[in-house]
Order: sequence, then structure tokens, then C-alpha cells
Amino acid sequence: MRVVLLGPPGAGKGTHAARVAGEMSVPMVASGDLFREHQKNDTSLGRLARSYMERGVLVPDQITIDMVMDWIVKNENKGGFLLDGFPRTLTQASALEESLGAGSGIDRVLYIDVPIKVLIRRLSGRQVCGSCQSIYHLEFSPVKSIGECDNCGGGVYQREDDKKESVLRRLEVYRTETEPVIEYYRNLKILVDVDGDNDVKDVEMTLMEAIKS
Ligand SMILES: [Zn+2]
Repeated sequence: MRVVLLGPPGAGKGTHAARVAGEMSVPMVASGDLFREHQKNDTSLGRLARSYMERGVLVPDQITIDMVMDWIVKNENKGGFLLDGFPRTLTQASALEESLGAGSGIDRVLYIDVPIKVLIRRLSGRQVCGSCQSIYHLEFSPVKSIGECDNCGGGVYQREDDKKESVLRRLEVYRTETEPVIEYYRNLKILVDVDGDNDVKDVEMTLMEAIKS
């Protein structure tokens, strides 16, 4: 079974991806991990990607697609796969479908949907420890002593990316880039909507049901 997990930033994809892949007994990957791996191993794709990043230019979709396809080929015969947060754009989605070939495309797309108000609340409350990188949340999992990490006593702060203006920008990029992908899969009738504005346990249960149905 070939599954794609999609959802806006703050929907909890990272939390759920590993559990769902584990339940399905298939390998999983996020495109961000592939980028880091290719950089680390200094592959030709990694070098190509870096040449764009160094010029401050957006890495073309084709490079991301090549990395994902390379990973899929290496992991075939494992009963399927789970892609976490990929494809992000319509170009990536149609290229993926084309690369996979007729009859072996994506079987199911799990879309974790969360209202924008909830996403803003979740994302803009995040704090991180500068020393041990523990993650906190001002509202949902605050540190015991203000400004101090529970684990190591280091200073906690808000990442640039998690400030309200950045959060709004990230959600806007998501809306323009990825919402067409949702519609693309919805038209293929392989998309399952999962209500992500729920308890982590409930969301997980709905995801498990969606892959079994
Ligand atoms: Zn810490």
C-alpha cells in the first residue's frame, strides 16, 4: 500500500507519520529528511540542491521528485511506503504519479485537516530549549519555571519561524501550494479527510481506520 500523509503545518503530521507507517509495516520518509541525507552523503542530487540554495534560489520540484523516486526505488518490495508531507505542489503530485506509472500510483491520501485558528494557536505558542531542543508550548505544555527548560535548565525561546507573522506566512504558502494537491487527490477519489482538531489518540485512531478501510 502506497500512502501519502498531508496536512498544514501544525496538523501533527510528524507525530502521526511514524505510528501509521509502523501500523502498516512500511518504510516512511519526509522530503526534508531526504534533503539532509543527500547533503550529508554529498550525492550528486545533494550537490545540485545545494547549488540552488547557495544562490538563494528555490530548489526546483524536479530535484525533490528525483530524491523521492530514488528513495522509493531503493525501498520497493517492502510492501509499500508512506510519504510524509510530500507532494507539496501540484507539479510534484503529477510528476510523482507519472514516475510511479500506471496501476502503481498512490493508493490513499490521508489529509489531516485542522481549522486555521487552531493552527495559529498551536504554532505561535511553540517554544524550544536552546540547549537540548526540547519543545514546549505556552498553553498546552508550558515549562514549570518561566523561561527555563524542565529537562536541562537551559533558556527556552520562540523560534523566528514560530512567531505570528511567520506562522501566517507559512500557512499562506501552504494554502497556495498544497491546497491544489488536496483537490487533485480528491478528484482521483483516493483522499480521506481526517479531523485533526481532536485528541492525538482520536486522530491516530481515525488514521488507522482510514488505512484499513
Ligand atoms: Zn533543555
